[in-house]
Amino acid sequence: MLDSGAPKPKLLEMFGEGIVKGMAETAKNFFGSYVSEERLTTVQYPEERIPQIENARQFPFLVYDGDDWHGGMRCVACQICEKECPPKCIYIEKSKDKKPDYVGKPQFYPATFDIDVSVCMSCQICVEVCPFEAIKMDTEYELSTTDRFGGLLLDKQKLARPNSHFHKIHPTEATEVDTRLAAEKAKAEAKAKADAEAKAKAAAASKPAPQPVAAGA
Ligand code: SF4
Ligand code: SF4
Repeated sequence: MLDSGAPKPKLLEMFGEGIVKGMAETAKNFFGSYVSEERLTTVQYPEERIPQIENARQFPFLVYDGDDWHGGMRCVACQICEKECPPKCIYIEKSKDKKPDYVGKPQFYPATFDIDVSVCMSCQICVEVCPFEAIKMDTEYELSTTDRFGGLLLDKQKLARPNSHFHKIHPTEATEVDTRLAAEKAKAEAKAKADAEAKAKAAAASKPAPQPVAAGA
């Protein structure tokens, strides 16, 4: 027996209300584009380009501070991003020696850091798992090359971008990251200063007090 209590589909829904609405919007833009520039939803690429929105993301890049891409690279080669990348397109080799990070702490750095962008699916998981704000998503999308394999395997120098680039493409996030890193740095410096003062005080307290010299000695 049929369930007579089931809701009956409306006629418009039966004929695809969403499709009708979409077609109406397309028609409005098509005919409207002859009379209004606002209705022009395409540009003459590559001569013209639609400005990228702040949340646009294509492929990852490695952030560095200052002017030296190698010395200022934030990556400490912890390899978390390499482990978490779903299609396994990140290849990292840890350095044997260490270099100071942004708070002056000696850290390893990537001797090798490659990303095969022909495999990368722009999921941003590497960015989300990085504890060091070292990897971010670029908005660059014109990476076409005639070399299908080598041309799309980007090494650490090709992946390196200054923090100013991060500010240019994602200003809100970059400002928030800078503020947080500056606070962490100030905290680390204050702790180092307090530790040094406590050490100096302890050293002074452990020194034997000068003995009084006897008269006539
Ligand atoms: S964006 Fe996703 S696929 Fe691309 S390197 Fe990062 S984790 Fe891997
Ligand atoms: S980019 Fe971040 S998560 Fe990946 S190795 Fe470097 S520090 Fe670790």
